[in-house]
Amino acid sequence: KEGMNAQDIGKLLHREPAEIVKKLFMLGVMTNQNQSLDKDTIELLAADYGIDAKEKVHEDISDIDKLYNKRMAASKKSKNQVKRPPVVTIMGHVDHGKTTLLDRLRHTHVSVHEAGGITQKIGAYQVHLDKHLITFLDTPGHAAFSNMRERGAEITDIVVLVVAADDGVMPQTVEAIDHARSAKVPIIVAINKIDVPGANPKHVTEQLMKYNLIPEKYGGDTIFVNISAKTGENVEDLLQMILLQADVMELKADPKQAAIGTVIEARLSRGRGPVTDVLVQQGTLHDGDPIVVGDRFGKVRVMTNDRGHQVEKATPSMPVEITGLNDVPESADKLVVFNDEKTARNVGEQRAQQALQKSRENVQHVTLDNLFDTM
Ligand code: GDP
Ligand code: MG
Repeated sequence: KEGMNAQDIGKLLHREPAEIVKKLFMLGVMTNQNQSLDKDTIELLAADYGIDAKEKVHEDISDIDKLYNKRMAASKKSKNQVKRPPVVTIMGHVDHGKTTLLDRLRHTHVSVHEAGGITQKIGAYQVHLDKHLITFLDTPGHAAFSNMRERGAEITDIVVLVVAADDGVMPQTVEAIDHARSAKVPIIVAINKIDVPGANPKHVTEQLMKYNLIPEKYGGDTIFVNISAKTGENVEDLLQMILLQADVMELKADPKQAAIGTVIEARLSRGRGPVTDVLVQQGTLHDGDPIVVGDRFGKVRVMTNDRGHQVEKATPSMPVEITGLNDVPESADKLVVFNDEKTARNVGEQRAQQALQKSRENVQHVTLDNLFDTM
């Protein structure tokens, strides 16, 4: 397009602006990165790159956040939408029983359909209730939740707020309420430790009402369940309530489109290379799919479910562990499936390059500042 400068063109063609300037120089055009160019010059340049400038300009596929958002939006309009399991994060004050609850769910409700199945530590797991599934993120606590959100990842559908009946509302309880509210994620209250002598769930309920969490019997719309994570009392009721809340929210996904997902956590394994736990959010991730994950690329080599069983595909809300990336991505990075390996590689390499350049620029700024400081 007329009026673009070397920088704009560089972005479009995935080249350094300096390379464009150099190329133009070779073609006999003297310019700098910011000078806008006329139509003839651009066409000349495009021809040199083997591109018809009049062709509709391709969108920048290296912007995988944008691609992710596009696919997310497309799936919301899709006719292929089906119900998907809710994704739940457990939050609450320290020592109120988050880990105990997660462990109980993992051990008593995970292997209903797979007797003897080994549970392995991946960043999330699924729980069965009747024929329904619920996905739990295995990192309780606010840091993980906020870190995800800060990086633009919104993977939690429902927050279960654990409040100990023998301790009541504490600072991190209030913090959790604030986090959930700012993320616009509905809260289910689980008043825990009701087995403890002297526990007073009614008092805790009244405390929570001051924070505008009102149970239905007092005219509100927040679900409250009194549980004991230790004995298991009412834990199944809690699961039922989560499913009820999920029904109200009509959580859906299109399993037919190209998959997108978010990294829960990732690490380097000595034997297997980079190992990444991802939550599939839309579409179906298949064995062998070419992928870009953050600034990494590769294809799904081995995909394992939360019980350590190898699987060939992962449907929406399913957490899986995958190998096959060229390097370890970061949590909250987005996963996007591409049609072919070559494109995935190009995009991944380009993103890594951009990231490297950005970090170099930062270093340069620092050195310049330091220089001025000493002058
Ligand atoms: P977290 O910090 O929220 O993850 O809390 P934990 O799950 O580590 O629990 C803190 C302590 O409370 C541990 O000693 C648990 O055994 C205990 N605990 C957790 N849930 C219950 C419960 O329902 N009843 C009783 N009596 N103790 C519990
Ligand atoms: Mg804990």
